[in-house]
Amino acid sequence: MTKTIVITGVAGFLGSHLAAELLHIPQTTVIGLDNLSTGKMSNMEHLLQLDTFQFIKYDVADTRVLNIKALENIHEIYHLASPASPKFYQATPFATIDVNIQGTKNMLELAKRTGAKLLYTSTSETYGDPEVHPQSETYRGNVNTWGPRACYDEAKRMGEVFCYLYHSLYQVPVKVARIFNTYSAGLRNDDGRVISNFVTQALTGADISVYGDGTQTRSFCYVTDNIRGLILMMEKEVANGQIINIGNPIEYKIIDVAHLVKELTHSQSKVTFHPLPEDDPKQRRPDINKAKQLLGWEPQITLEQGLQLTIASYKQKLSIS
Ligand code: NAD
Ligand code: UDP
Repeated sequence: MTKTIVITGVAGFLGSHLAAELLHIPQTTVIGLDNLSTGKMSNMEHLLQLDTFQFIKYDVADTRVLNIKALENIHEIYHLASPASPKFYQATPFATIDVNIQGTKNMLELAKRTGAKLLYTSTSETYGDPEVHPQSETYRGNVNTWGPRACYDEAKRMGEVFCYLYHSLYQVPVKVARIFNTYSAGLRNDDGRVISNFVTQALTGADISVYGDGTQTRSFCYVTDNIRGLILMMEKEVANGQIINIGNPIEYKIIDVAHLVKELTHSQSKVTFHPLPEDDPKQRRPDINKAKQLLGWEPQITLEQGLQLTIASYKQKLSIS
């Protein structure tokens, strides 16, 4: 039997990687939805050539998405649509709220109607500026409703509420992945997130822009590890009705990432310091015991290995030898 999988946000960083991975599985077709707000057609160049892939340009926050004929007979929904970089979600705060609240409700309604399973990509941002470290799924977070990150953090939290309701009231098989900082060369050069900024800056000789004093921490997961985690979550019945952290538990200070990128690129760039954005979380590291126990999943790629791969591909993208 052919399995039909819907991916929202398919033209984005994670969505395009996920589609490529799923399309390697025999008898699988993927229908990708995206409004191309942060995603790009060029991310799907390799996919658009396949008979097993169909792209529909659509805003998934528009309730009329439920009338699309091609979505009547589907088996799985990966709901990834949402800007993810602070630069983009803060530029379009109402659209960020809409896609995570109404867009999530629409996709859950679609799952309810069709009997499809649904995976929602939530975020480590639901923990806000965490006072508990590392963050496990039981930590309820330290989130601010009154600031520039609220449109994303609170909308993702509300998206999780919809997932909870459709699971508990209607028994929709729902899974929530709380994703921690994930990267690869698939990030746009102008994405604004730290790895794409630092690598692009180091390779082009621009200053490497550290925000604050660089002592804030993040834990970086390479894209292939993330995608493997998402697919396992979708496949495993034990993940139904669960929130699971998907991230790499090795934590780095941002200043150390700047120096590591500089070293690996042999760059002459200067490291410069800039104001820390408002509400920037001071520390972030996932507790991944739940993912290990339920999915048998843990990341395999170190930051250094992932950066080497990222740097090599960015060099090609930027035509640097
Ligand atoms: P991205 O910005 O590269 O991709 C998001 C995609 O969603 C884009 O193609 C965009 O055009 C599309 N989109 C946005 N609003 C839409 C709408 N209303 N209708 C249809 N499509 C829409 O971001 P990403 O890094 O690939 O993130 C994918 C998902 O993973 C997001 O939900 C994000 O919140 C989550 N996530 C990512 C990370 C990470 O480190 N990459 C971390 C935590 C959570
Ligand atoms: N950051 C930085 N320089 C940059 C971009 C980001 O120092 O050019 C910092 C940012 O302040 C944050 C961390 O790197 O502390 C991760 O930022 P990113 O936007 O990648 O993701 P976030 O985890 O904040 O959503």
